[in-house]
Amino acid sequence: MADVTRGYCVKCRDKAGREMKDVEIVTMKNGRKAAKGTCVKCGTGMYRILSKEAAAAAEGK
Ligand SMILES: [Zn+2]
Repeated sequence: MADVTRGYCVKCRDKAGREMKDVEIVTMKNGRKAAKGTCVKCGTGMYRILSKEAAAAAEGK
């Protein structure tokens, strides 16, 4: 998977990004794709908004 497994955790506040586990690609109400996962460190739910290209790559299309 592209680099969709990294995101910003609001709890860890690690600017470098935090690794996410249980990542799944979801479609938001506005039609945009996002990677939804859980912070490996604190377990907080995380979202990462994906570009069209990143979403397509993550879905293997
Ligand atoms: Zn965290």
